Amino acid sequence: MRIDLHAHTTASDGTLTPTELVAAGAEAGLDVLAITDHDTTAGWMPAAEARPAGLALLRGAELSCRWYGESPAIPLHLLAYLFDPTAPSLVAELARVRGSREERAQRIVERLRADGVDVTWDEVRDYAAGGTVGRPHIARALVRAGLVAGTDEAFEDRWLGERYRVPKEDTDVFAAVRLVREAGGVPVFAHPKATKRGKVVPDSLIVELAEAGLFGLEADHEAHSPAEREHVRGLAAELGLVVTGSSDFHGSHKQVKLGAYTTEVDAYEAIVAAASGVPVLGP
Ligand code: AMP
Ligand code: ZN
Ligand code: FE
Ligand code: FE
Repeated sequence: MRIDLHAHTTASDGTLTPTELVAAGAEAGLDVLAITDHDTTAGWMPAAEARPAGLALLRGAELSCRWYGESPAIPLHLLAYLFDPTAPSLVAELARVRGSREERAQRIVERLRADGVDVTWDEVRDYAAGGTVGRPHIARALVRAGLVAGTDEAFEDRWLGERYRVPKEDTDVFAAVRLVREAGGVPVFAHPKATKRGKVVPDSLIVELAEAGLFGLEADHEAHSPAEREHVRGLAAELGLVVTGSSDFHGSHKQVKLGAYTTEVDAYEAIVAAASGVPVLGP
């Protein structure tokens, strides 16, 4: 079984539509694919409608969270699988975070414009095309303006990585674990030790999250070094958490391919068994 539990579409900052994603998943030889757009379930229905018969579709999302145990608070991502997409508190929180993402993007654009950079909010909003707005959409505007060669360069410190960094109002990570569980979903910490993306949380927080209902840790991910992958595996074994691996596919603005990293069938089955929000679709 080839199982990839983390992929984005045009419902957030991926470049394939949900329809195209499920087709690409089957073409890549996957048996199971999760759709995990940032802070939205908008891609679930079109992905479900287009799902090829041989592909199992796990519906999920990647929640923008923050841990307030240090100052400044540390941002982190929580994958949430198979939750009820109508659970009122979770729905409201996702909408709030999407709103904060729009405000943040507008503030970043204002700061760029104040420095004479020719990008506009209208343009960035058009790139997001009704989906969750993210920094990759601003990166695209910087590429269009001829200022950077691609997304990676746009995330360097002199651009979105530091100089034009504006925080968004994410969900407190303990609240997120609780909301996902209350909605019948299963929370997995995405790329928890990706030090090359910025400051990461201490192991002590992961211990606390495990006690609070966290179900798994994503170990095999392109943003983890081999040592970081091993460390995450060890931590998961100690805490009784499942280990996942996934491509975090975003389409053409990142190099990684669908199925580049995968999840063992035991971990996948444990996630499905722990969920009660919505079922897996397909075989
Ligand atoms: P945002 O969610 O708006 O804060 O933007 C973060 C998203 O941008 C991540 O989920 C990735 O898809 C992408 N991203 C973050 N860091 C990088 C990077 N260094 N290079 C390319 N894409 C990145
Ligand atoms: Zn993303
Ligand atoms: Fe992420
Ligand atoms: Fe992601």
